[in-house]
Amino acid sequence: MFHDSSPSCFPIGSNRSTLRLGEPLVHFKEKIMKNLFLVLMFVLLGCGSQAYGQYKGLADSDIVCEKCTPDQLTEESEGIRKAARALVDYTGSDLMPDYSPVTIHVSQDGACSSGASPYADYGYICLYSYEKHALPCSDCAPVTELPSQVMMVHEGLHEWFKGRVEFNYNLEEGFCKFVSVDVTKILEFINSQGHDIDTSPCIHSESESTKLVQGLCSLGLTPDNVREILRNTDENVKIKGAPLTIKEFSELVTGVMRRDATPAFRDANLL
Ligand SMILES: [Zn+2]
Repeated sequence: MFHDSSPSCFPIGSNRSTLRLGEPLVHFKEKIMKNLFLVLMFVLLGCGSQAYGQYKGLADSDIVCEKCTPDQLTEESEGIRKAARALVDYTGSDLMPDYSPVTIHVSQDGACSSGASPYADYGYICLYSYEKHALPCSDCAPVTELPSQVMMVHEGLHEWFKGRVEFNYNLEEGFCKFVSVDVTKILEFINSQGHDIDTSPCIHSESESTKLVQGLCSLGLTPDNVREILRNTDENVKIKGAPLTIKEFSELVTGVMRRDATPAFRDANLL
């Protein structure tokens, strides 16, 4: 999916060749050749990466898995792309142009450090899904289904934040947990296996990294609020043409929730 705010790199508009009455045809041909040369130079200088298809929406990311069989890679890819599409629907927007494409690594490999938790970095996501899904699990959802792709949604949202809000792990992490639970309906799936747990995506842990969303949850944060916060974030970034500061983001959250979110940001040491 191409992003609306993608920069326009095509230089022809202001230099369009026009044939004025009486102008010798040979001059017109020279103008065309000159413009073709300009276009070629833009391409060679690397402008127009989107025009030439290098940009990829999250759901169209390359997916690699060193350890998978071809069948496993096909199944993992189906689940990953489903999760990516669900996340893009949820946020109403895709990766920022400067942070695409992303390669998704299903298993630990040379790009992903050994034994680490899933993480998102510039241009790639390491999921370790192969390692996780290789473990026996009688009541897990199939890898092709959303409840099995919590980490894909979580890491995908970290990638989504890049270029939209000034980076702060403790700002993003709570939203990634909230949204991954809400999008995949993992808690509803667990209940369908005979459990009875609270399905609110508000996170019940007290870790430093989720303190912001904890605070917002105590102010009444809802899934609708979070969708609106993410959609408004994208709109504001388009208007501003640069990532939002944490202060601007906190004001946006206050506007959506119609409650002063500043204390929650302060309690989480973000302001
Ligand atoms: Zn995270």
